[in-house]
Amino acid sequence: MADYSAQFNCPGCGSPLETLEGTISLQCKFCGLIMRIGSPGRILKYFYQPKLEGFAVKFSVEKHLKEKGLSLTYSEISRQLFYIPFYRFRGMSYALFCEKTVECEVDDFENAIPMVKRELQRKCSHFDLTVPAYTNEAFGLDSLGIRPEVMPLTALHNDNFPEDSVKIDIKIPPEEAKQKSMMMFFMNVGFASLNKEIISSEMIGEGLSLIYYPVWAFSLSQGDFYTTMFIDGLNKRVYHEIPGELETHSTGIDLSRASEMNPVQHKCPNCGFDLPVSEYSLFYYCQNCFRAYMIAEDNYVSTGLLTAKYEEGKHYHPFWRFPFVAGENINTVSKFSKVLTGEIPLVAKKKAQNRFYLYVPGFKSMNLNSLTNIGMRICCVQPELSIENKPVPFEAEMILPESEALELARHYWDIMRSKYRHLERPEYEFESCKTAKGEIVWLSLSRPHYDNRPRYFKQAKLYAK
Ligand SMILES: [Zn+2]
Ligand SMILES: [Zn+2]
Repeated sequence: MADYSAQFNCPGCGSPLETLEGTISLQCKFCGLIMRIGSPGRILKYFYQPKLEGFAVKFSVEKHLKEKGLSLTYSEISRQLFYIPFYRFRGMSYALFCEKTVECEVDDFENAIPMVKRELQRKCSHFDLTVPAYTNEAFGLDSLGIRPEVMPLTALHNDNFPEDSVKIDIKIPPEEAKQKSMMMFFMNVGFASLNKEIISSEMIGEGLSLIYYPVWAFSLSQGDFYTTMFIDGLNKRVYHEIPGELETHSTGIDLSRASEMNPVQHKCPNCGFDLPVSEYSLFYYCQNCFRAYMIAEDNYVSTGLLTAKYEEGKHYHPFWRFPFVAGENINTVSKFSKVLTGEIPLVAKKKAQNRFYLYVPGFKSMNLNSLTNIGMRICCVQPELSIENKPVPFEAEMILPESEALELARHYWDIMRSKYRHLERPEYEFESCKTAKGEIVWLSLSRPHYDNRPRYFKQAKLYAK
């Protein structure tokens, strides 16, 4: 998935900087200022600089008339540059589903009860969707498709927004947009088909942002005929047309809770020392006073630095782990091995009484299948870890906030129990089980990356039309 670039001005020296949308921290290459611009859960506002003005709008309209074989004689009624808001939502989707295959018992036709065989399959993939944040259908644009990659976004501030343009009201709150994205996504990947039953699905968000897209509306008349053409402000083409004039009532409603980008100094809240910068990491370690922090709710929250050897190797990757209690106080490795007989087959005596944890990888990989495999494997191994409190080479960025990690933990638990009929009972549903507060552990893995594709590997967009 291509990352979009975004432009903003350095708060230290005013130089124009370009970074990737969703960046958490960075350093100004001109004045050296170290700053933080993002936080999980914070929605930033961006817009595209319009590429099209005055004369060019007319030119696009006339080109369109010509293509349709219409007369170039017309009277202009109005023209207006609108900014229409979209949410961009990207992240990872995980699903566990079964193919329903129905078979008949051949021996006994009298009481033929169809036997439903369940064949479980896992499917995970990255998604990157744009959905409208507005409700006015006249604009005829229900997704930005591949448009946003054309040029960089600009961080929106009150004083840099094109004058005389009209912002369309944001009437859809982010939660609704997320739900809509999820439905669109599952339709696109074909889960909606009849013979598939989704047992568990999660969408783990990496980022949600608000993007204003420029569109010109040009109303004209030719004799008795009135029409409004919509011109894409970036590719300069008429992409949509409605009869009559456009009716809009922008009142300034904004349900997005999105905010302007407002970089702050990125320094240790304890000693004031600069923290390291790292594109998407939510975890920072102060080299001066040896404290670790997670970025949460636009702030630095103290966290432990827990490291442990898991496999041979120097490549430490971050995992969330949650102590987990299911059913009738099933809380140790040995008790879990009795209900998940095939998953946790051999319990070494010394770890039998250990607490049982759900482990979830907190780092990014293009290959979500191998990522899931690593997580599931650690959940099943329940490794005997000797936890230390010392800095290690951090090989990957911690990108997952605790709330999202917990959703992934639920999915992992659903995968583990899905093979056992006796674990279908309500007391084994994740919501009835207990999870204690999560902690981050950095585990050594033998391979540096579980991904050999280039970092910005471009995938075919699922929403491309
Ligand atoms: Zn600067
Ligand atoms: Zn410090």
